[in-house]
Amino acid sequence: MKVLWLLFMICLFRPGSCRGISDETGAACLFVASNFSNYPFDCAQPDLEYKCRCLSPEFLGTVLLCIDDNTDEVDELIQAFDYIKEVCGVQGSKKYSFTQLIDVFDNATSHAISVSEVNGLNKSQLHNPVMPDTQRFASSRESVRHLLTHRNKSTKYGVGLIGYWGLSLVLATINNVLQWCFPEFYMNMNGDSTRWLREHVICPQLISESHLRKNSRLNTFVSSLLRSFPIRVQSITVAFYMALVIIFCTADYQLYRPNSIFPWKNAQLFAYIADRTGILAMTQLPMLILFSGRNNALQLITGWPYRTFNIFHRWIARTVWILVLLHAVFYVAFTATCSNYRERWMINKWRWANTAFVAASISIFLSSRYFRRKCHQLFVSSHQILAIIFVLGCWYHCVTLGWMEFLYVTVAIWALEYFSRFGKIMLSGGIVKGNCKLILNKKLEPHSLRITVHHSGWWRSFPGAYSYLYFLQPKFFWQSHPFTILGPARQEDFNKLVFLIRIKNGITKQLGNYIMRQENLMCTLPMLVEGPYGSTIPFKAYQHAIFFAGGVGITVVYTFAMDLVHMYLADKTKNHSIDVVWSAPTISAIEEFVDEIEALSRFEMVKIIIYLTRELETILPIDDHELKITPKEIDDPIELVNSCTDLSYNELVKLLDPLSSNSKELTTELNQRMNDILSTTGERVSPVEYDVTREKLQNVFFRCKVNLGRRPSIKKELPGLLKLIPDSTAVVSCGPDKMNRDVRNAVAKSLREPNKGRIDYFEEELVW
Ligand SMILES: Cc1cc2nc3c(=O)[nH]c(=O)nc-3n(C[C@H](O)[C@H](O)[C@H](O)COP(=O)(O)OP(=O)(O)OC[C@H]3O[C@@H](n4cnc5c(N)ncnc54)[C@H](O)[C@@H]3O)c2cc1C
Repeated sequence: MKVLWLLFMICLFRPGSCRGISDETGAACLFVASNFSNYPFDCAQPDLEYKCRCLSPEFLGTVLLCIDDNTDEVDELIQAFDYIKEVCGVQGSKKYSFTQLIDVFDNATSHAISVSEVNGLNKSQLHNPVMPDTQRFASSRESVRHLLTHRNKSTKYGVGLIGYWGLSLVLATINNVLQWCFPEFYMNMNGDSTRWLREHVICPQLISESHLRKNSRLNTFVSSLLRSFPIRVQSITVAFYMALVIIFCTADYQLYRPNSIFPWKNAQLFAYIADRTGILAMTQLPMLILFSGRNNALQLITGWPYRTFNIFHRWIARTVWILVLLHAVFYVAFTATCSNYRERWMINKWRWANTAFVAASISIFLSSRYFRRKCHQLFVSSHQILAIIFVLGCWYHCVTLGWMEFLYVTVAIWALEYFSRFGKIMLSGGIVKGNCKLILNKKLEPHSLRITVHHSGWWRSFPGAYSYLYFLQPKFFWQSHPFTILGPARQEDFNKLVFLIRIKNGITKQLGNYIMRQENLMCTLPMLVEGPYGSTIPFKAYQHAIFFAGGVGITVVYTFAMDLVHMYLADKTKNHSIDVVWSAPTISAIEEFVDEIEALSRFEMVKIIIYLTRELETILPIDDHELKITPKEIDDPIELVNSCTDLSYNELVKLLDPLSSNSKELTTELNQRMNDILSTTGERVSPVEYDVTREKLQNVFFRCKVNLGRRPSIKKELPGLLKLIPDSTAVVSCGPDKMNRDVRNAVAKSLREPNKGRIDYFEEELVW
């Protein structure tokens, strides 16, 4: 990492290295001679890559005479000649040695004509080198200087943007260090101002739920859009970043006229904007790739989880794409002004730039929330391929221009990432055997998988740890998916990893179907384990912990809670408590986790409440507590429908009547939601089955509280629970988006309470 940083700094401060022109005098002379109206050499216009002019002794002679005339020191002359060698070699595909250029120069001295002799010639008639024109050279040098100043400034603004992220990372690191190294001090940071900051800035959603409840179609759309934004503190971080990008894109343009490089003022402005946006985009690539890595060391330093970096990665990617789009638009405008758009397609760097842009555009489109959720694997695979094409495009676009250092760093970070992945697989024992057991639901369909892997034992699992698993089957060996590490239950089984996997629609379904065909619903599969990943939570300083788990999120909650129990048991000086609220959709989901829940419930300090939410919905007795809510108390009917899954359709309509009569749009949405609830009738059981299930669950989980047929009312119950706890409390949620949002908002509200111990919220989500 240090080497990368050093490379980067060298690039930044080495004159001319990052700006596409390595010598001012050489470039000034090149641009003087390149003006076809002043110097009509025998080459077809526009010769954008100097393919013809680099072969022309007259043109080259003119440039070299100009260089000789305008340099005082030998070093300056050599540097300028080197620049001409570079331009002809890289762009014009004509490689000159220094002595060859000296020969061209010698030849030119004996055949050169004066500028006044050129003026009478028509186009493409100049067959002699021309003696330098001091005035034109001076003006050209100023043009080059202005261009270089502009490009240097743009590069510095780009580095400024990196600095912005650096500052954010430093703040996060300070917070992380305080949390881990000075827990007492951290716990005491609970005054009015820090509570206000956490309530209004750090903890809540971008827009609080209560502001998202206006009952119209437009508002529903706006609400769902706003919900897709990151939480407030992250949104503010991104907003500042965007604001800086806008300022840096628009500030400080100084046009210079007359200009030897840009004959038209508009062309100069367009090129300057294109340069600024392109350079800014280029400078962001290292951050873009760094933030997307699974093995990003900054996760450890800052305490930001992978998901947070991933959110920033997405916003940097969107910003880079917009910058690249502007770069493309303004370059097209520039070529249109210069009337050489078609000829540009002959240039390699132009074609590669277009390739990179197309790859980035497709990638941005396929990264939309919709695609990510619908076809995650298509998104992951296409993202990697498109990212390679994009970086290749940038590479060949910039190889003749500069700013390659940013690409070297980007590629190095990328290589390091894949090297680390490979290293983790090897450290886990390379190809290992996984014992897979399939669990069926009551319809005898694949429901979940329990996989036990014996790995090398060179690393130990920790709470919240997860690994990426590769199943070495021809159909999906190239896919890797993250799963939480449950085991080992006993210390001596430290090389045993247990994974509990819920069957979804992709690889997990294919695996489920495969094991379904095996004897006893069991098999042994060759696998790769890439891990461990994940970060743990600094629970030590908190006296109490409340966990919310949704579905398979219980795997993560279990690892944290179990570890915390041992930590709390070791500290006898304080009263500790752990509450676990688990919302499980089906009985099968609960059954597969019986052992773990039993193990956890054995400890007195642990209180477990299980909500079985989906099956058994319609058969609950009407007098369940949710019905006690009177319509006057309800400010969000949709919310109510979501939480009252235990009511029948008619009961819901009756309950909501005073509200639904106020708004017609609302009725449609309510109907839809109610129909969703009622459409699961296939999964429902009879009242007799209900009693049997309740009894069975109560017997198994006699130390837990089991609620059937409804979801926890987080918004109401969590603040109540927190009110009862006077000391510091960590609240952790690991469930679906909606559950996490509810817990987050409830915690934010509870922060208002004065004279309470510190409350902090931590979130884990099993998708991104
Ligand atoms: C840190 C972490 C820990 C996890 N732990 C567990 C666990 O212990 N048990 C468990 O059952 N599941 C866990 N998951 C979720 C699990 O990775 C996905 O459910 C699984 O990859 C789905 O595979 P699929 O191809 O069958 O899914 P699909 O049917 O293709 O997709 C189902 C859902 O999962 C999402 N998804 C699919 N692939 C991935 C992926 N590679 N990464 C993230 N989300 C994905 C999709 O966006 C979609 O919303 C965890 C996820 C993360 C990020």
